Amino acid sequence: MSHISGKDTKPEAIVRKYLFSQGFRYKKHVSNLPGNPDLVLPKYKTVIFVHGCFWHGHTCLRGKSPETNRDFWTKKINRNKQRDLENIDKLKTVGWHPITIWQCEISGKRKERQKMSEVCQKIRSYNVSLIKVTSWMAYTPLPLGQADNPNCNLS
Ligand SMILES: [Zn+2]
Repeated sequence: MSHISGKDTKPEAIVRKYLFSQGFRYKKHVSNLPGNPDLVLPKYKTVIFVHGCFWHGHTCLRGKSPETNRDFWTKKINRNKQRDLENIDKLKTVGWHPITIWQCEISGKRKERQKMSEVCQKIRSYNVSLIKVTSWMAYTPLPLGQADNPNCNLS
């Protein structure tokens, strides 16, 4: 069992390094947000969790409970999963975009590149200034009767 906990774990370092190389800037371990996200990108209203597959109960091979003390581990890991879901919900409610990256998704250079370019694309689509423009366009009704307004006469 690989023990993934504490601050500068390896998968997280991989994610940080990649994002930095793509020009993203972030804050680390922001404790006033639900779940203490590993990375926070305020400009994109995005938070990133880098999860160890074992501790957070991923559906991959690494996420399987060990044979010994199975009940204990299943309970413990289910609790973690439940907490993760709750944190994601809370973050979404207050307008953040949570992204979860699993350890197994970035193990090996090829997988790392593929997953991380996907993640970067996602983050860019959350650019706050772009979102403002779209919501302004979507929600501001056209001024009514403008065509009839003599002050707007173009001729
Ligand atoms: Zn996994």
